[in-house]
Amino acid sequence: MTAGRPTGIVLGMSNTDFEAARLTVRLGAIVSNYRVCQRLAGPAAVAGVVKADGYGLGAAAVTKALADAGCDTFFVARLEEGIQLRPIVPHARIFVLDGAMPDSVPALITHRLTPVLNSLGQIAGWNAAAQETRSTLDAAIHIDTGMNRLGLAGDELSLLASDWNARVENLRPVLLMSHLACADDPKAKMNSVQLDRFHTALAMLPPTPASLSSSGGVLLGKEYAFDLVRPGIGLYGGNVQNLPTNPFSVAAVLTARVLQLRRVDSGRSVGYGATFRTKWPTVLATVALGYADGLMRAIGNQGHAAVSGRRVPVAGRVSMDLVTLDVTSVPADSISTESEVEFFGDTISLEEAAKAGNTAAYEILTSLTPRVPRHYEEGSA
Ligand SMILES: *Cc1c(COP(=O)(O)O)cnc(C)c1O
Repeated sequence: MTAGRPTGIVLGMSNTDFEAARLTVRLGAIVSNYRVCQRLAGPAAVAGVVKADGYGLGAAAVTKALADAGCDTFFVARLEEGIQLRPIVPHARIFVLDGAMPDSVPALITHRLTPVLNSLGQIAGWNAAAQETRSTLDAAIHIDTGMNRLGLAGDELSLLASDWNARVENLRPVLLMSHLACADDPKAKMNSVQLDRFHTALAMLPPTPASLSSSGGVLLGKEYAFDLVRPGIGLYGGNVQNLPTNPFSVAAVLTARVLQLRRVDSGRSVGYGATFRTKWPTVLATVALGYADGLMRAIGNQGHAAVSGRRVPVAGRVSMDLVTLDVTSVPADSISTESEVEFFGDTISLEEAAKAGNTAAYEILTSLTPRVPRHYEEGSA
């Protein structure tokens, strides 16, 4: 990588024609996944969750594509993510899930970001800031319904309800939201428990637009949709409920190049720790992708990659820059040092990659480091 140039992220960044690895982002698929959410959740509106750099795909490009498709509401986690998004969508609503810590209040106001207020203290602080600036500030309020992570607990909700007008005197509450703990499992009883609690909470407060569902919730049915849904992983092609047919299209494809092919005899070891031993004459492909690119080290001797649509196992440990595949089953004319190998995409699903890495699709995507250039494909899914 040439010094002084930013890594990856932007189309056409690479210094040479040769790219060891790349993440291909299908913007058309992201838009079509957005439309799937609209169909499933409508008439509720669909926001784009683009925290963590759009789950690693590139928040700027993803946000632009969604905005062009009519999306006018986005969620980020961090204040800094909101600040970076603001010039990309000057007129969109940007919610900041982290809320309004006292030292983030001035920046939230400057960049017209809407905090998701998580406690009575944050509501008070944001209300005071509105009063000081003689303005009315928009706010979302997060109500905990069982996640016990962020949001007002039951006693705080009662206090808010009893004293609503005073506590939000200088605020414009634009959203009451909660978050489902088990939306990836349609059979989980927790879903309807949280749905009931959310209805109870909403009934305690003046009518305000409401939001409960992330991608999993979008698939639970319209009674979970309320006024706004907040899909993230579904937009990026995750099969969040592991359905036999993924309702979402593949939007991210991770490929890397074969650097070397070698034929080894039976009884030879492969890689660090010599944890793989060939049982017969074996063809190995050494591929330019490693844990420093975000490939899960846990897929050593566990995971698969795909060569021209054919699944091949990882042989030995994943190293920092390289991974070795057993490609004995691949016809010799179907693989060469020119070949690109897929680690997830059309053949290997995010969920399969996650299972092999003992993790979730979310971490597969957000672990990809800047060393992997992102390439953006426009067009239909
Ligand atoms: C990350 C997040 C989402 C999006 O969740 P997905 O499972 O990726 O669809 C929605 N709401 C909240 C509060 C989140 O933290």
